[in-house]
Amino acid sequence: MSQKTASSGKCIFCNESFTKTGITKHLNTHLAEKTKDGKPGKSIHVKIEVNPKWGALPYFINLWVDGNSSMGDIDIFLRQIWLECCGHMSSFTNQKAQKKSGGLWDFFEAGVILEKENTKEYEKLMETQNGEVPKSKKTKDALYKNLKLDYQYDFGSTTELLLTVMEEYPIATKEKIVLLSRNEPLEIFCETCGKEPASLVCAVCMGDEESAFCKACAKKHGKTCSDFKDYAAMPVVNSPRMGVCAYEGGRIDKKRDGVFIKKVTT
Ligand SMILES: [Zn+2]
Ligand SMILES: [Zn+2]
Ligand SMILES: [Zn+2]
Ligand SMILES: [Zn+2]
Repeated sequence: MSQKTASSGKCIFCNESFTKTGITKHLNTHLAEKTKDGKPGKSIHVKIEVNPKWGALPYFINLWVDGNSSMGDIDIFLRQIWLECCGHMSSFTNQKAQKKSGGLWDFFEAGVILEKENTKEYEKLMETQNGEVPKSKKTKDALYKNLKLDYQYDFGSTTELLLTVMEEYPIATKEKIVLLSRNEPLEIFCETCGKEPASLVCAVCMGDEESAFCKACAKKHGKTCSDFKDYAAMPVVNSPRMGVCAYEGGRIDKKRDGVFIKKVTT
């Protein structure tokens, strides 16, 4: 796809719309206000976006995470809203904590530990050597202000995200993870006619000039692209995993997961 669209998201507290960069600052004012009379504890504001090495993509999520939830809870949340197609593996990695590899010896040690099915010890080795943050770790022990973590889902057709810890707060949240904001469905127009919102993408032609289509133009594409007719037609969804593997959309927050609604100009 050739289109680059800007994005905006609504604030859960006041329902106002902001840009991707504006919303994180704005959310902080609400959360700071809440610390005045919140239940004591610890909570963390985490921004999640596509890893910038893939280019400046407009997708974003802002989460308010309770300190007693685990990294695995964030993993599950990301799968439910953005990623899960067929249960691939995933990981959180702190690039800065990565040590120079001990080479063959580490490899050997990891193998021995795995054979004994000692998950705790294996996690510890991965953490010290690869900077991999264990999913069992509580977020209050794993996350601190300004920390950046790489997140990978599916080590084959990988979707790479970047988590940034924006702020820590001395209060608990009501739920394990609160979705503070997410980008509204992107204004992706049909790349053939340019008039209608696109509702289907061709997973095989992604990267080409024309790979997002409205219903009418999708029919036309099917005539020239046999893959599209057979298996490559995927729904437009509000996720960086759109068109990848068998991803067909999230399981939560579904009302913001589809095709954008075209504004009617009067
Ligand atoms: Zn607000
Ligand atoms: Zn898959
Ligand atoms: Zn069209
Ligand atoms: Zn195609």
